Amino acid sequence: MFNLSRYFSTLSFILIVLAAGALGPLYRYLSVQQMSAFAADRNVAMAQVFRNSLWPGFAEQVRYSYGRTGAPPPAGVAAGELRQRLADLMRDTAVVRLRVYNRLGVVVFSTNLGEIGRETENPALFRQALAGQTGSDLAQGIAVEGLEGHHAKADLLSTFVPVVGRAREVEGVVEVGQDVSPFMAEVTRTLWWVTAGVVGVFALLYLLQFLVVRRAHQILRIQEAKIQASRSTLELQVEQRTAELKRANRQLEGEVAERRQAESKLNYLAYHDPLTGLPNRRRYIERLAESIGEAQRRNQRLAVLFIDLDQFKQVNDSLGHTIGDELLVAVATRLSRQVGLTDRLARLGGDEFICLMEGVGAEDEAAELAREIIAAFDQPYLVAGHELYLSTSVGISLYPVDGDDVGTLMRNADSAMYRAKAAGRGHYHFYTPDMTDAVMERVRVENLLRRAIENHELEVYLQQQVDAVSGRLTGAEALIRWHSPELGEVPPTRFIGLAEETGLIVSLGNWVLRETCRQVMAWRADGFDLPQVSVNLSVKQLERPEFIHILTDILAETGLEPERLKLELTESVVMQVDNAFVLLDRLRALGITLAIDDFGTGYSSLNYLKLLPIQQLKIDRSFVVGIGSNRGDEAIITTVMALAKSLGLEVVAEGVETEEQAGFLTILGCQQLQGFLHGEPVAAGKFEARWGKR
Ligand code: C2E
Ligand code: MG
Ligand code: MG
Repeated sequence: MFNLSRYFSTLSFILIVLAAGALGPLYRYLSVQQMSAFAADRNVAMAQVFRNSLWPGFAEQVRYSYGRTGAPPPAGVAAGELRQRLADLMRDTAVVRLRVYNRLGVVVFSTNLGEIGRETENPALFRQALAGQTGSDLAQGIAVEGLEGHHAKADLLSTFVPVVGRAREVEGVVEVGQDVSPFMAEVTRTLWWVTAGVVGVFALLYLLQFLVVRRAHQILRIQEAKIQASRSTLELQVEQRTAELKRANRQLEGEVAERRQAESKLNYLAYHDPLTGLPNRRRYIERLAESIGEAQRRNQRLAVLFIDLDQFKQVNDSLGHTIGDELLVAVATRLSRQVGLTDRLARLGGDEFICLMEGVGAEDEAAELAREIIAAFDQPYLVAGHELYLSTSVGISLYPVDGDDVGTLMRNADSAMYRAKAAGRGHYHFYTPDMTDAVMERVRVENLLRRAIENHELEVYLQQQVDAVSGRLTGAEALIRWHSPELGEVPPTRFIGLAEETGLIVSLGNWVLRETCRQVMAWRADGFDLPQVSVNLSVKQLERPEFIHILTDILAETGLEPERLKLELTESVVMQVDNAFVLLDRLRALGITLAIDDFGTGYSSLNYLKLLPIQQLKIDRSFVVGIGSNRGDEAIITTVMALAKSLGLEVVAEGVETEEQAGFLTILGCQQLQGFLHGEPVAAGKFEARWGKR
């Protein structure tokens, strides 16, 4: 930093010394000038007095000496009366010397007699006086021989004054010498005082300025230090903030990456069977449609092979779902690798696979492939230490003879598969139009189902949903049961699909809805207040324009508040209905809770899901089963939980059978659990007996 006080003190010191040094001589010069003028005036006055009173006595002598040099003066004149009178004149004045010159510059009279006859010491001033001009000269520290005596060291101001006679010509010159020593001494003394005073004042001024400047310098230093300090603080803050921002950015990047991963996982799930990794039904349908288009253009044939395992249900029931799942994976692997169906095989669900064959020449080519598939089961499967002997049945339909669209081809291959099964294990069969037997069977079931409502063969069972943390009852899901006198106990998985295909599901679903609401209100009258009840909703119901009216009618009729009702829709339902947004928004507007059922098994588009007015996701049982044994399932559950969290959705886990599953789900933040761990679906009476007393 610029050192203000140092620069200032040096500079001002030099200036003060210079000023003091210049002031002394200046003062002295001016004083001497002034004094000289005064003294010269006095000398002239003395010369005037001399001229008036004594000159006549000298005039003769001067005239006498005129033209002669070195001639001795008439001693009498000088020594006599004149000398005495001069002494009288000079008494009480400072004049100590008086010389009279003739026109040749020769001293004709002097207060010092010894000088008489000498020439002037100052010819310049003498000539000037001769020309009529008065002039002076100051000689310092000289020895003077006066009338009164000897002056060893005196300051003498000598003035040369012309003496003008009657004829107005210069008759001679008088030199008057005045002793100015006292005055000079006085000047010197004053000079000292003045110098001391000036130096003192300057020193004081300097000191004052020095203090002011030093203070200013200090203030500047303090301020600079403050600025420095605040700059450092600022830099530190900037650094900290930058670090914070970097951290936040990293975190954000992490979240974005997580989200992307979740999205790509879900996209994968949309087209793949999560268990085996094979393409799913949706993918297969798309692929088949493309292949049909291609075959049409090229005039080629296609074969659709429907593959169904023969003893899978037994394995599943006797050895459990885990082993069942492992077996399915092993079957998928063997079919893909061994039979080389890699990109043509898909899993439709359960133990059903389907295969596509392009560019089929003779019918036998498809039969050959079917035989290979069946042969893949010749060797037993080794799963968890069990040697499992399986076989499979294959049904084949051909494009274009057995159908020219996806639905027909798949349905006919399915029918052919049933025929193959009917022929015993490990067979294949081509579709033939006479295969209406199966269709007939379906028609029979359909008719029985149609009557089932009127005959009161249907019943609503209920299964509890509990709070994952507290275990308290949060609600119940209504699940339909069919007690058929002809068919026995028919599980919903067997007839819901049929009911949907035939449209029966509409009356059936509405019946379940009304019955469930009625039941909840009956319980309430009985003192058992169920917090919420869940009803499964089919796409066919939702598609009906009058559905919303039926629903509001049921609510009005039974008196159940819309907040107490939750509707479960599968992802496919949402995807299949054109104006799903509008419909769901209307349901939501009523105050009804909406849940996506079997989440993860369908083919939801995440972007689509984000926009829906849903509140809950139900994680499908097939993933819950894998907890503790299948890393993939656990990863999917974790992903779904993260997704739900980011979308602000509640999660209900289905099919919770063990404490381990419950624990895993609870830790991940799953809010509600549903499954055999807390109870199987039971009739209303049993449900009330179990949960109503709590
Ligand atoms: P969902 O809606 O996913 O119902 C859950 C199914 O999982 C029920 O099968 C239930 O009994 C079963 N479940 C619950 N906890 C466990 C468990 O811990 N372990 C095992 N292994 N299973 C468990 P359910 O009753 O056979 O129903 C099957 C499907 O049928 C339902 O799946 C639903 O999609 C459909 N469904 C049932 N009732 C109706 C209905 O009234 N209307 C419609 N549209 N569909 C229905
Ligand atoms: Mg459900
Ligand atoms: Mg479900």
